[in-house]
Amino acid sequence: MKEIILIKNGELALKGLNRMNFENALIKNIKSTLNGLGAVDITRAQSTITIEPLYDDYPFEQALDKIKKVFGIAAFCRAAACEKDINVILEKCVPYLKDALQSVKTFKVEAKRSDKKFPLTSPEISRLVGGALLKNYHHLKVDVHNPEIVVTVEVRDTAAYIRAGQLHGAGGMPVGTAGRAAILISGGIDSPVAAWMMAKRGITLDAIHFASPPYTSLRAEQKVKKLLSKVAEYSGTIRLGIVPFTELQQTIAEKCPEEYFTLIMRRMMMRISQRLAEKSGSLALITGESVGQVASQTLPALVTTDAVVSLPVFRPVIGMDKDEIIEISRKIDTFETSIEPYEDCCTVFTPKHPRTKPTIKQCQDAEALFDYEPLVEKAVQDTVFEFIG
Ligand code: ATP
Ligand code: MG
Repeated sequence: MKEIILIKNGELALKGLNRMNFENALIKNIKSTLNGLGAVDITRAQSTITIEPLYDDYPFEQALDKIKKVFGIAAFCRAAACEKDINVILEKCVPYLKDALQSVKTFKVEAKRSDKKFPLTSPEISRLVGGALLKNYHHLKVDVHNPEIVVTVEVRDTAAYIRAGQLHGAGGMPVGTAGRAAILISGGIDSPVAAWMMAKRGITLDAIHFASPPYTSLRAEQKVKKLLSKVAEYSGTIRLGIVPFTELQQTIAEKCPEEYFTLIMRRMMMRISQRLAEKSGSLALITGESVGQVASQTLPALVTTDAVVSLPVFRPVIGMDKDEIIEISRKIDTFETSIEPYEDCCTVFTPKHPRTKPTIKQCQDAEALFDYEPLVEKAVQDTVFEFIG
């Protein structure tokens, strides 16, 4: 029997041109994630996208795993496609639904008829299909209010589709519909989650990582790439820029009062990131900061880092507790990698008593003790790029 995958769009309130952009981007992203699993035909009609494999033994489970990670999808499922003839539907539905119905006791049938020329009404289709299933599977009962599984029969213009249940999609908006932004990615728990959250709203991701060899190791860089490759399963390919940060950090450590190390380092990170973002067309910066989590994330500290950039800084986890962030990191499978013990450049020169209520003026005075501009520009120029995912 011919099997297909049905995909329901998310964000149904979208209209007109926005809707077209949304659907075009979604189809492009679906094509790209399924690329490599074999040829498929992708069509759309009535806010449903249909994926039809063009050869036998299509790896459906692998394809569903990938589709689960595409933003902009509300729900999806495997379905059998057959001729729009009630006798064919009745004959096909019994064997096709066998596995799905074996493990449940109650079900109901919902019929949807978008082809109004079909000779039976939706309630008639439901009744006939329900009857055929009851006749063949004696353990089943109909429960219209609270069934364990809903069998759906859709009669559309081109074919009839039979399916049992459906899976939740990743939600959000298709990546590519909301502009580009740059995630400042460390090897920690928070920044991959922040990246994922913004990709979920349709943002195309660039990534920036600050490395301070030999204080930070190659392993730390590999960890960041591994984290990004997990995020890229949702966001699509990410361009990563690795910024050589050692010289700036050493100079800060040499010239500035210790209590300002972290703040000034973060202000330098923001300056460099803004320049890289402008070069790549990123319209915003993203960080994994959360109010009060560490000394450099108090409100006054965040004010001093925002003050050096004109781009908006998105901090999607700003109001979340650590355990809420961890819950997402487990869901997107970055947690186990994030807790690997490699050092981050932030932890290399940490002051014993960091300022928690700094002012912009104090930071400016501390920075005025050295000429940072050439070092900032050099870091931008020496950034090395590669594509992840
Ligand atoms: P995370 O779990 O993301 O590392 P954190 O709680 O450890 O967060 P910090 O180390 O203070 O927090 O960093 C705050 C944010 O600054 C990070 O979420 C990230 O966006 C950015 N950041 C920190 N270190 C780096 C780095 N080496 N390269 C790029 N961005 C960084
Ligand atoms: Mg960190």
